[in-house]
Amino acid sequence: MQHIPYILIVDDDSALLQALSQAIVLRLGQARVDTVASAQEALRCIKEHDYDAIISDIKMPGMDGLMLLAKIQEIRPDTPTLLVTGHGEQDLTIQALRGGAYDFIQKPVERDYFVVAIKRAIQTRQLRRQVAEQQQVLEQHAQTLERQVMERTRELVFANAAKDEFLSMASHELKTPLCSLKGMTQLLRRRLERLASPEVKNVASMERSIVRMEVLIQDLLDTSLIELGRFTLRLSKHDIVELCQHVVREYATISTPAPLLVLNIPAEVISASIDATRISQVLLNLLSNAHKYSAQDAPITITVRRVNNKGMIAVQDKGVGISEEQLPHIFERFYRTPEVSVQTGSSVGLGLGLYISQKIIDAHGGSITVHSVPGEGSTFTIMLPLLIGEMDSEEMQAASHS
Ligand code: ADP
Repeated sequence: MQHIPYILIVDDDSALLQALSQAIVLRLGQARVDTVASAQEALRCIKEHDYDAIISDIKMPGMDGLMLLAKIQEIRPDTPTLLVTGHGEQDLTIQALRGGAYDFIQKPVERDYFVVAIKRAIQTRQLRRQVAEQQQVLEQHAQTLERQVMERTRELVFANAAKDEFLSMASHELKTPLCSLKGMTQLLRRRLERLASPEVKNVASMERSIVRMEVLIQDLLDTSLIELGRFTLRLSKHDIVELCQHVVREYATISTPAPLLVLNIPAEVISASIDATRISQVLLNLLSNAHKYSAQDAPITITVRRVNNKGMIAVQDKGVGISEEQLPHIFERFYRTPEVSVQTGSSVGLGLGLYISQKIIDAHGGSITVHSVPGEGSTFTIMLPLLIGEMDSEEMQAASHS
């Protein structure tokens, strides 16, 4: 439907009022025109109707055209206002344009100029209206999209939590039968060993597979607990030197083929408040990775040292190393570097070991970093905060300032 232009003319000169009104009706064809003799009346009409253009004389008794213009700017800033000025009133014209007038028309009014100016004003108003409508449509669209994104996010968060709940429950349920399977297999192996049966080898291999499965299930369980925010530590005072010795010994007995482990430890005790089971888990994971990604006879060096107010544990291998592009990702959940094949032992893994390790070390207030050169090897370094009582006075001072 075509929009019929609606115009307001304000002038205390009734002859001019009529002449302008007639010119509009004659030259624009379809148009609605309201005429008023004062700015006060004009304001009442403007509040009521959304005109396409307003034409007002500048000089009027009472409120003049400039004051009316200021009011229009407040109430209907999008409505173009044309001011009619007397001949030679440049100052007023400039004031009108500065005050936001759309255009000015000089007396005596030149009809053609007047009609062109009013047509342009109407067009501008209609364009502004279209822009405002489109803006509104866009805003509504943006709101709908925002709502949809929020809904989808809520669904995803819910689905993710449900997945973690399921993972937690499933891994928990899998642990029990696996544990009894492991017990029975151990029993069977010992019996076969006593009988010097040739089947011992096969059962031992079965046992190793069960242990690997146990680690995978534990990794899944730990990941779901981390994601659900239910991961907790059981802290108590431990000597990390002794702990490392113990873990290295344990790793040497359980892993096949046997690794070449070199242990560098200080003569002193380094005490820290840690969850010994969790720190052992991290160390076993680092040792198993170092072994996995190195040639069978390559040495793995474990160094334990006190560095300022921290206890340092470093696991160094001379294996395949990690490329610069992949380094930033190796602590991510489920990340396994592509195109790197396992050098020694089983390739079983879910890309969770380092992710869990980092969470465990973070929870201790420590840090885990890696330095790696492709083709030369990698060093994973853990820093753990020490018990205040275990630091010497210089270190305590340094710690209190850090
Ligand atoms: P996974 O147990 O599945 O290997 P991790 O989280 O322990 O997962 O390790 C993530 C990835 O980081 C591995 O897939 C491997 O590519 C790389 N990586 C970890 N440790 C080493 C290492 N010592 N040498 C080379 N690459 C390593």
